[in-house]
Amino acid sequence: MSTQEQAPEKADGPSSAQEKPVQKAVIDPATGQTIAWVDELGPADAQKAAARGRAVQPAWEALGFEGRARVMRRAQKWVTDHADELIATIVSETGKAWEDAQAAEVMYAAAAFGHWADHAGDLLADERIKVSSPLLKGKKVLTRHAPLGLVGVIAPWNYPFTNGFGDCIPALMAGNSVLLKPAEKTPLTSLLMARALKECGLPDGVMQVLTGKGSVLGEALVDVVDMIMFTGSTPVGRRIGARAGERLIPCSLELGGKDPFIVCADADLERAANHALYYSMFNTGQTCISVERVYVEAPVYDEFVAKVAKKAKKLRNDRPTGPGATEVGALTIESQVATVTEHVEDARKKGATIIAGGNPDPDKPGWWYPPTVLTDVDHTMECMTEETFGPTLPIMKVADVEEAIRLANDSPYGLMASVFTKDMVKGEQIARRIQAGSVHVNDALIGYTALEAPMGGWKDSGLGARHGAPGIRKYTNSQTLILSKYHLKKEPQVYPYTGRGFKLLTRVTRLFYGRGARD
Ligand code: NAD
Repeated sequence: MSTQEQAPEKADGPSSAQEKPVQKAVIDPATGQTIAWVDELGPADAQKAAARGRAVQPAWEALGFEGRARVMRRAQKWVTDHADELIATIVSETGKAWEDAQAAEVMYAAAAFGHWADHAGDLLADERIKVSSPLLKGKKVLTRHAPLGLVGVIAPWNYPFTNGFGDCIPALMAGNSVLLKPAEKTPLTSLLMARALKECGLPDGVMQVLTGKGSVLGEALVDVVDMIMFTGSTPVGRRIGARAGERLIPCSLELGGKDPFIVCADADLERAANHALYYSMFNTGQTCISVERVYVEAPVYDEFVAKVAKKAKKLRNDRPTGPGATEVGALTIESQVATVTEHVEDARKKGATIIAGGNPDPDKPGWWYPPTVLTDVDHTMECMTEETFGPTLPIMKVADVEEAIRLANDSPYGLMASVFTKDMVKGEQIARRIQAGSVHVNDALIGYTALEAPMGGWKDSGLGARHGAPGIRKYTNSQTLILSKYHLKKEPQVYPYTGRGFKLLTRVTRLFYGRGARD
């Protein structure tokens, strides 16, 4: 359906310029109906918001960790008290199943507000550094983490809370102001959460949600902030990284994936089949860390495929009208229907067998593709080499684990991966050979919820990490303090050069380093 309908009087977005901003429709992907209108802001709005964010940042920083944590803990309670409203908003703009929004967004939101409130202070505490240089004897060396000032967060549409607002929480806890640009298709969750944080006591201007086009507002945002946190596709990530490089501002990039899932002959096949299916179809397959391709050792291939096929045929692909209404919801953006169709049809043409799904109903309103399982696939097919980002599960037979590892690594991406085997030693050995930021043994995807552990991509899947210590330190400048309380009037290396200082430092160098290797 067209998004060019007449806009109503007032948009649900931040007010900006004196003249009224253009309005953009938000569509429910499960029905194709317009559900809201939001402002389409531009570069001038980004500049104004940046000035506002910078003006209020020092007072926010001055609140200290405990002051800021109080707001986040109230937000944590807000999320649990308003879980249904939050889920309904997420579902309305993404078309995902209610259970998907609950597990991956509301539970994440509740956990993340508490986690960063509890741990930011420790993760960013001043650290006394033990130094070995003889030139620093008697001096105290500390590192501290100072907020960068104004952080920009640019988010994708697949997880409007988790992959957008979620990244704002550590940035705020580090003492920064934040400008968040949600994806054009899914702005409502961010606008709701910005209002929620205000209710929870976040001072005006510390967190601003700016709605608008990536190519206009997104680009402008990169030019006005002190750091950019981007989650989205690899081509846009490269562009943002290049611009951040020109401006010499730090950036953190969470990009695309093509996660492999290896099933060894000694795996618990029932568990492997359940998890391959669930984590490929979860969120209608629109997860950067979805299971996108499966490699099964030949002796158990037929049994594994039979199990997956039986389970896949039972999945419902209906409108997400409430809890229990469907397993697999709609695709969130219209262009995903074309991408998924292209990958399935390319595979079909090259000899793949479709053992479930594969026949979308063109008359169904909204954007849909049924859960689809493919076999007889190989690396000549797009479904095995390009990010599909949809409800597909291609399963390939391999001769042995060596072939599985080689194919798993035969990808420009390296986000997450899975290995299924009953032998934990072997599983860990395989995991260590896979080129990916996180690897599960007998699990998939769930590692994302480890807020204490860094999660990021290798290769074209990104730069930097979210979660863990790097997930908050990236929002700070580290500063080293060298404090000389007890000192001479002048140290031996200091002018004038009379030769005495030289001799002394020669002796010191021999004393400290002259022993060389101990063996
Ligand atoms: P996208 O790159 O098209 O858009 C992401 C965001 O960038 C949107 O807000 C968009 O408006 C904005 N944008 C677009 N062009 C821009 C530009 N020139 N300058 C600045 N901003 C711009 O990605 P998408 O389609 O929204 O999301 C899907 C992709 O995101 C997939 O590739 C998926 O794997 C990836 N993703 C990665 C992670 C991760 O953690 N690694 C998580 C979720 C999604």
